[in-house]
Amino acid sequence: MVHNFNAGPSILPHTVFEEASQAILNFNNTGLSILEIGHRTALFEEVLNEAVSLVKELMHLDENKEVLFLHGGASTQFFQLPMNYLSKDKKAAYLDAGVWGSKAIKEAKRFGQVDVVASSKDKNYTYIPKDYAVPHEAAYFHYTTNNTIEGTQMQSIPSLSMPLVADMSSDILSREMDFNRFSFIYAGAQKNIGAAGVNLVVIDKKFLDKSSSAIPSMMDYKQHVANGSMLNTPPVFAIYVCLLTLRWLKKSGGVAAIEKVNLQKSNLLYNTLEAIPLFQLPVAKEDRSHMNAVFTMNNEALEQKFLQQCKDAQMIGIKGHRSVGGFRVSMYNALPLSSVEVLVELVKDFAKQHG
Ligand code: PMP
Repeated sequence: MVHNFNAGPSILPHTVFEEASQAILNFNNTGLSILEIGHRTALFEEVLNEAVSLVKELMHLDENKEVLFLHGGASTQFFQLPMNYLSKDKKAAYLDAGVWGSKAIKEAKRFGQVDVVASSKDKNYTYIPKDYAVPHEAAYFHYTTNNTIEGTQMQSIPSLSMPLVADMSSDILSREMDFNRFSFIYAGAQKNIGAAGVNLVVIDKKFLDKSSSAIPSMMDYKQHVANGSMLNTPPVFAIYVCLLTLRWLKKSGGVAAIEKVNLQKSNLLYNTLEAIPLFQLPVAKEDRSHMNAVFTMNNEALEQKFLQQCKDAQMIGIKGHRSVGGFRVSMYNALPLSSVEVLVELVKDFAKQHG
C-alpha cells in the first residue's frame, strides 16, 4: 500500500477515485460519460447544486454567503480579488506569513496600495506574526490560514473591523471555524476538496456589492454569482470530484469529526518527533500546522538515507519544499491515521539506528 503524503494534488478518499472512474464510463446510469454531458443540462445542474449546498452545510454558512466554483486555482484569486476591490487610491492590508501569501501581495500591488502589516520573512516564515495594527481604511485584510510550504497555521481568526479575506487552500474543511466571520474565502480544490482545476470561493453578499464591474466579465464576481458559476463552461469533471469528496466528508461525520482525526494524526507525528533529538522542528510550537508538518535533520547524508527508507516503505511526498529543505509530511483529510502510524514507526526505527 502506498502512503501518500503529497502536498497537493494529494490523497483523496479511495471511494472518490472509484466513483469518479465509474462516472467517466457511465454517469448515473445514463450511458453517457460525465465528460460528455452539457454543463447546462439538468444532469450537471444537479451536480453543481448539490456541491454548493454541501459546502453551505459543511461550513455552516449563513444565508448571506454565496458559493462559487471558479477556474484558475488559488493563484487566480491572488489577482482577481484585488482587481475587484483595489485601485490607485484604495488600500488593502496583507499579512506576510509565507510564500503563498507573499505571492498574493505581489499581485495585489499591481492594482492598488498594499499595506503589509507584519512579516515573518526575517525567520524564513517559521512563525506567524502576532502583533500588528491594521489601517481601518483598508478595503480588506488578507491572510493565509495555513502556510503549506512552511508548515505554519493560524490557530484563531483575527478580531478586526474590516472585511476578512482568507486563502484557505490547504486547510479548508479540516477544522471547525466560524466561516461566517469571513467576507471572502478562497481555496484551490486539490488538497481537501477535490481535483485540481477548480477553486472554491465563498463571498459575503455585502462584500460582493462593493466589487468592481469595470473589469473583464470572467474576473467579475457579481457576474459569476448572477450566473451561478456558469458564466462560461465550468470545470465539469473537477466540480464532480469535489461533489464526491464533499459527500464523503459528510458521510464521515463532517468537519468536527474529521478535525478529531486530523488532530490525532498531527499530535502523533509531532509528539514522536519532539522526543527524538535527531529531528528538528523549525516552526514555533504554537503555530504548527495540523496539515503540513515540516521537520529537518542536521545531516544531509542522513536526510537522504531517511528519504530512501521512506521510499522503500512506499511512503511518498515526504521531501520538503525546495525553498525549505528537510521534510514535509502533508496530512490532509483523506490521509488515514494508519499512514501516520506507519511513518511514526519508521521514524522511531531510524532514530534507533542513527540516534
Ligand atoms: N495558496 C496556498 C496556501 C497553497 O498551498 C497553494 C498551492 N499549493 C496556492 C495558494 C496556489 O494554488 P494553485 O496552484 O491552485 O494556484
